[in-house]
Amino acid sequence: MDLTSLSIDAARSAVQERKTTALALAEAHYARIQKEDGQIGAFLTLSKDRALEQADRIDRMAAEGKQLPPLGGVPVGIKDVMSTRGVRTTAGSKILENYVPPYDCTAVARMEAAGAVVLGKMNCDEFAMGSSNENSAYHPVRNPRDLSRVPGGSSGGSAASVAADMAVVTLGSDTGGSIRQPASFCGVVGLMPTYGRVSRYGLIAFASSLDHIGPLAKTVKDAAIVLRTIAGRDAMDSTSAEVPVPDYVAELAKPVRGMKVGVAREYFGEGLDDEVRQAVELAIDQLRGLSCEIVPVSLPHTPYAIPTYYLIATAEASANLARYDGVRYTVRARGVKTLAEMYRRTRDEGFGAEVKRRIMLGTYALSAGYYDAYYLKAQKVRTLLTRDFDEAFQKVEAIVTPTSPTPAFRLGEKSNDPLAMYLADIYTVTADLAGIPGISIPCGKTKEKLPIGLQILGKHFDESTILRLAHAYEQAA
Ligand code: GLN
Repeated sequence: MDLTSLSIDAARSAVQERKTTALALAEAHYARIQKEDGQIGAFLTLSKDRALEQADRIDRMAAEGKQLPPLGGVPVGIKDVMSTRGVRTTAGSKILENYVPPYDCTAVARMEAAGAVVLGKMNCDEFAMGSSNENSAYHPVRNPRDLSRVPGGSSGGSAASVAADMAVVTLGSDTGGSIRQPASFCGVVGLMPTYGRVSRYGLIAFASSLDHIGPLAKTVKDAAIVLRTIAGRDAMDSTSAEVPVPDYVAELAKPVRGMKVGVAREYFGEGLDDEVRQAVELAIDQLRGLSCEIVPVSLPHTPYAIPTYYLIATAEASANLARYDGVRYTVRARGVKTLAEMYRRTRDEGFGAEVKRRIMLGTYALSAGYYDAYYLKAQKVRTLLTRDFDEAFQKVEAIVTPTSPTPAFRLGEKSNDPLAMYLADIYTVTADLAGIPGISIPCGKTKEKLPIGLQILGKHFDESTILRLAHAYEQAA
């Protein structure tokens, strides 16, 4: 049995039925990390002690004939923006180089309570700001499908590790596309749940009204299992919703025949790569073949999504990142004479260029005199974008789009052009702004064998429908 290419269910049953052990699974993944990750760079920290302790607990359960929980013995990775008790958590930043949190992120705690074995922490863009993982303060991640290309970002390590069989599933975070876009670049499944579906407690905040935690997985079913595990109200996050959690896995079996699926012209315009367009159009034909009804819809405010997102996200980031001042947490500038100099030097030495750019943009947008012209206006446009979706979802149950206008680009290709990098998020930021769920699933490859992603967007708290459609497409394709 190849221990590093199993789905969640296959891994769990193999441990349950004593065909292998959780320990052997963890060790096989660590061996693969040892072999592959030198060139990929997906992990920032390995949490071997914690993983082996958990594996041992699961193996004892299996030996005693106890029923294993849904992720029993399954090796997983956690994006390094989620706090892990006793395990270094850097958010991809130098400023948190030695930060060891005293508590666990709720989503991580729920994964472990469901039996998951946490292998380590995944590389990402600094504070999740980026679309290529090149903004990590440690090292970039390379796309396992083509090492000259980026894996996408900011959850680049989370996507690359799943694609390279170094983890069965991982958790990522999505503020403006950071789960779905790297999933599409690496050819894996990435699910961003509805805002409020999954607790953000213990997630290092980037833009609090846009931040979401969700899974990157090899199959739609695995993503459904993880969502079922991490979703639901958490008293520690007041924005986590009191909405019941359906059995997303059982929902996958329902038929898609007759489902009304929207296609929005605005997502097929200028800048869309030809091969991506063809693959997505072919996928839409395949959905038609599954007896879905394809319905044209309009999302007219889409052209304003990028400026709206980059105003709101930077404004919130500038406020959230004010806490890194060298007083609490770890890294502090040395040899300073005054408090003000300590703040200044700590932040100057601790933050990378992109993070500084965002803090400055956000501070500007929030400053007196500019607030109404920028931040307030962006909030209004955000409402218009949300209404576009509300109207479209009166007519359809799901909307399909390309996940990203291009396949994975080369390392260095956009790293000196922040605007070009921001434009790569054109199809993903809208769902974050509207708070609706979205999934990216593989839908073919370019001539150069680069994966292409199909995005499916759904109504608030209707992850079941997009998972069901994604699953049906995955099975048919
Ligand atoms: N690429 C976007 C940005 O740089 C999205 C990041 C994210 O979703 N965390 O802000």
